[in-house]
Amino acid sequence: MGKYSSASSSKSSSSSGGKQASSSRTGSKTQKWIWYCGNCKFGPWNYQIDTHCFNCSHQICNTCDVRQIPIDTRK
Ligand SMILES: [Zn+2]
Ligand SMILES: [Zn+2]
Repeated sequence: MGKYSSASSSKSSSSSGGKQASSSRTGSKTQKWIWYCGNCKFGPWNYQIDTHCFNCSHQICNTCDVRQIPIDTRK
C-alpha cells in the first residue's frame, strides 16, 4: 500500500463583487412621517401622533398615503 498524500489545492477565486454597504443617506436632517387620509384625502397628519383622521375618523391603514418629509431643524 502506498502512501496517499492528498494535496489540498486551495482555490482562490474570491473576487469581490464590489457590493459595499455604503450608507448614502445622511442622518443630519430630521425626518418626519406624515400621512394623508386614504378615505377623505385629508391631511397631512402626524404619523407618530395622529393615528386616525380628524376629518372622518378614518384610522390609518395601508391604503393611506404615508410619506416622509425632511425637516430643517437649523434656525
Ligand atoms: Zn379622513
Ligand atoms: Zn386608510
